[in-house]
Amino acid sequence: MILRQLFDRDSSTYTYLVADPTTREAALIDPVLDQVERDLGLVRELGLVLRYAMDTHVHADHVTAAGEIRRRTGCRTVAGARGASCADLHADDGATLPLGELAIAVLATPGHTDDGVCYRLGGHIFTGDTLFVRGNGRTDFQNGDAGALYDSITGRLFALPDDTVVWPGHDYKGFTSSTIREEKTLNPRVAGRSRAEFVAMMNALDLPPPKMLAKAVAANRACGAVDVASMHAVPDAGAWTPAADAAPDEIDRLQLESLRGARVVDIREPAEAADLPPLPGAELVPLGRLADASRDWDLDDEIVLVCRSGKRSFEAARQLAARGFTRVHSLRGGLIAAR
Ligand code: FE
Repeated sequence: MILRQLFDRDSSTYTYLVADPTTREAALIDPVLDQVERDLGLVRELGLVLRYAMDTHVHADHVTAAGEIRRRTGCRTVAGARGASCADLHADDGATLPLGELAIAVLATPGHTDDGVCYRLGGHIFTGDTLFVRGNGRTDFQNGDAGALYDSITGRLFALPDDTVVWPGHDYKGFTSSTIREEKTLNPRVAGRSRAEFVAMMNALDLPPPKMLAKAVAANRACGAVDVASMHAVPDAGAWTPAADAAPDEIDRLQLESLRGARVVDIREPAEAADLPPLPGAELVPLGRLADASRDWDLDDEIVLVCRSGKRSFEAARQLAARGFTRVHSLRGGLIAAR
């Protein structure tokens, strides 16, 4: 399994990239809107195909990138059964999501919030804010419930094999991971504490509200659609649209002429050029080589794909869009129409 732990310093949030090394299918768990470029860049560098952007719960301390990543890659967004209604998949407790030859199992773990889930991949559990290294998420807002959290941690997570690796949703002290065995014995919040003691301790914490609470929760209920200007420097990140919009648009010859600086790629076979010469400045990349050649291209490059009639180029543009290219077009009618 491919597993990468990524960190957002502003919110102390961990994002995880997991993938099947055989099929290259990948998922991002708890992606952060401010880190979209970094995360999609890594997906691309590693030659992965993103299947899911998954949230462990509706967060209150950062804005999810799930909707934006869906818009850019065509992947599906995943939440627990009670998670944000904008998600494509609401995973029930006990559900499994295929990831190539791997499977992601879903455990409902309410308590920090009422929609919380953990995701298990083999001997690894991604615990969101249910369980941290030597800590746990707070329970004083968003329908948090200390008793439910105690049950989720001790009844669900501690029932996993002791050597299961714990990957938390946040860390504020520099820890990165732990194991179920360690947390059972060393987590000061739960080790040796009864349910009643845990509830009394949590209810006495008296923490200040997270500074992004109102805005983040509202945005995350919409998969990260947000009044970005007030919070983030990510342009147009609020404009999430369904996955179908990952499809490329078709442009005509006039639009092509106005797209100065666009990378124009002729995907025909070399022999076809004798019949209809390529457009001036076009790169010749036969369709069979497109996947390879495009590995070095920037996901935000303006790309116009061209073929004889516009059919193959539309299909090829769809493939690029599905791989995360954000500004990919197909020349409508192809070279026949452009002449
Ligand atoms: Fe949280």
